[in-house]
Amino acid sequence: MAVILDGKQIAEKIRQEIKTETQKVIADNNKKPGLAVVIVGEDPASSIYVRNKEKAANEVGFFSVVERLEDTVTQEELLQVVKRLNQNDEIHGILVQLPLPKHIDEKEIINAIDYRKDVDGFHPLNAGALMVGDKGLVSCTPKGCIRLIKETGIEISGKKAVVVGRSNIVGKPVALLLLQESATVTICHSRTKDLAAELAAADIVVAAVGVPNLVKGAMIKEGAVVIDVGINRLEDGKLCGDVEFEEASKKAGYITPVPGGVGPLTIAMLLQNTLEAYKMAEIKL
Ligand code: NAD
Repeated sequence: MAVILDGKQIAEKIRQEIKTETQKVIADNNKKPGLAVVIVGEDPASSIYVRNKEKAANEVGFFSVVERLEDTVTQEELLQVVKRLNQNDEIHGILVQLPLPKHIDEKEIINAIDYRKDVDGFHPLNAGALMVGDKGLVSCTPKGCIRLIKETGIEISGKKAVVVGRSNIVGKPVALLLLQESATVTICHSRTKDLAAELAAADIVVAAVGVPNLVKGAMIKEGAVVIDVGINRLEDGKLCGDVEFEEASKKAGYITPVPGGVGPLTIAMLLQNTLEAYKMAEIKL
């Protein structure tokens, strides 16, 4: 039976570490790390995410602001909000909650964020830095996945890792981070011919697809580390991941639950990125 990687508990430990470090940097610099979250419209899931991010930022002692905008906001108005936050010395991290309404050009908004404040790691300069192995802000969910794998104590170097999903926000950056850790990485996606064959030899599996129970227990190699990024809401209202949890638990060495696995790490990594951005701006690391 797999060991369950308790994301809530691990995230709590990280948040305590961030809180302690935050107290120290505030004492040294007489200034709080500041996080701004921009939300457009009233999407219920996004509203919950934003509230959780604001609460987490306040709990560790950050200065935090939420810019709530109507879903009728224009591209130009949203760009002006981002530009104002770029220039605000109290703000070290800016996060624009996605998805944005259809009439907004998401790419242009993300590209307008000062890359040094891009705590989501979505700006092309940060994505590019990850590609070439330079220092930069790394996306929160992929960073959280690596942290969870490291919590197992298993050496990533030399292991065969299979990432299911190739999105810019999860699949691709997770694959690059695993490569940086010297894993042998395969990326599977919607056109992959035989997912089971790819997964059969995987010591590490990261599933980021958004299809409930796509990864079957039978596909998991004995003892593998299984990180389930998927968040899917079933008809009965329950949440489930991309991995068939019960069956996969019988074969995996370690597995993350949904909810309570990757999700809490994403917020912890957002706090870590904000503190990192603060240190770059205020302490010139
Ligand atoms: P996305 O829709 O942008 O990408 C999904 C990827 O899955 C695509 O690359 C596609 O090629 C691949 N795919 C689709 N069908 C497939 C199949 N049958 N076999 C193999 N690959 C297939 O999604 P995303 O933004 O990367 O998010 C993925 C999931 O992770 C979603 O459920 C999302 O809600 C969740 N998510 C969770 C967190 C978190 O904090 N826990 C953060 C971001 C995303």
